[in-house]
Amino acid sequence: MKVTRIAYSAALNPGKYAVLQEQARRLGRVRSEVWQRYGSVDGVGSGLRDRQVRDRWLADGTHVQFGVLANAWKETVRDAIADIAANREAAKAKVRQAIARHTDDPTELKRMFTALKANQWIADPFLARQMRKHWRRGKSHVHDQIVVRADQYNTVVDGRGRLWLAVPGLQRRKMVRIPLSTTVAPTGTLRLILRGGRVEVHYQIDASAMRSSQRPCGQATLGVDKGYTEALTDSDGDPHGERLGELLTTESDRLKERNRRRAKLRSIANTAAARGDHAKAHRIKVNNLGTVKRDRQAARHRARVRTEIFTAVHEVVDKAVTIMAEDLTKRFTGRKKLPKNINRRLAAWTKGITAEALKNVSERRGSAHVPVNAAYTSQTCHRCGAFGRRSGDRFHCTPCGVVWQADVNAAINILHRAGDPDIALHTPPQRVKQILQDRTDRHRTRLPVQDSSPATAGRRANNPNRSTMSK
Ligand SMILES: [Zn+2]
Repeated sequence: MKVTRIAYSAALNPGKYAVLQEQARRLGRVRSEVWQRYGSVDGVGSGLRDRQVRDRWLADGTHVQFGVLANAWKETVRDAIADIAANREAAKAKVRQAIARHTDDPTELKRMFTALKANQWIADPFLARQMRKHWRRGKSHVHDQIVVRADQYNTVVDGRGRLWLAVPGLQRRKMVRIPLSTTVAPTGTLRLILRGGRVEVHYQIDASAMRSSQRPCGQATLGVDKGYTEALTDSDGDPHGERLGELLTTESDRLKERNRRRAKLRSIANTAAARGDHAKAHRIKVNNLGTVKRDRQAARHRARVRTEIFTAVHEVVDKAVTIMAEDLTKRFTGRKKLPKNINRRLAAWTKGITAEALKNVSERRGSAHVPVNAAYTSQTCHRCGAFGRRSGDRFHCTPCGVVWQADVNAAINILHRAGDPDIALHTPPQRVKQILQDRTDRHRTRLPVQDSSPATAGRRANNPNRSTMSK
């Protein structure tokens, strides 16, 4: 298994940075072209490989218009085709749900899932229709990246111990030398990302070489619930990553305040420009509305949140060999934009990181990560199965007359979902609700009449209030 490492450059001199920026801009056009021509069912969907695209372009001269070296555009084509394939895989999650709604027949289900996985869906009318529906043609707006093949760059340490990375520029045999602020030389294929006058060098290393991969996993079987205050709560009742909520709240407040200030400055600049004071407008734009500091702060925040979440997952794996969790990848299909509201945007984004961390850490440390259907796990009581009410971090169950810690209750429900004979990973939420309702009804008819009437419970379940809709 591979994990991504990032090396940062020291501040680059403007001339070098401009050369790299120009190259990245031109390669951005290569990327757009690939997405435009081959980004859907008829291109990559029909099994097109990057090598075929290269041959076609060399034959018809497409590559000449870009004005970059051969290796650069070829690597970019390979990278873009891989992105498109990843986009296709994401669309499949939606199609799998559609299949589960489409049929109950186990043989048919298996046939369709297999065909989908093996990319043999074109021949099947239902699958082809679903893929066309969910796999929309994407676009690429990436114009700040350069992919460099392993044999195209070199690294040297200078007399003062500084590490330099030399990558091809726009002209043959004219390398651009980038000073790195690390002493560990990157290896393999590099992805250079240009941000605010610096270069981020992304590369992959084998995870088995990392020290955290040597740590053994625990013995327990646990369910985990993803929260906002804590990154994760396990079914034993232990919270992990407790600083996450604070990190997100602080960031959200800071962003709101900063956006407010920037809007004000922007309006001052616009007023000045309307008055004819272009010098002032320009000054504000350059000095107060720049993106360098903003982007650097954002990167630092992302890094902190990642660390918190990965640490939380490591703690869970310290205890467990098998971890049941909500299928967190579910809502990340397609290239849907994240919501505008800052809080929801941050929550959606941390969900993606939690999914990545669970998969990544489990694979490295030899524990099993089992995604389960988490529908209604935060709205039902783990002891009696009845629908209850969640308010804040408390869960009220009327039949039991108990208040549970909401995340712990959900984590235990998630743990039990793994062995549930009726609720599979892709069972639609409405059906899950019906199954849960039937169970509590069956349970109640065997009991003497209680003061909590089923009618009340039914009404409540049909109108879950907003705080219980989080799952
Ligand atoms: Zn209960």
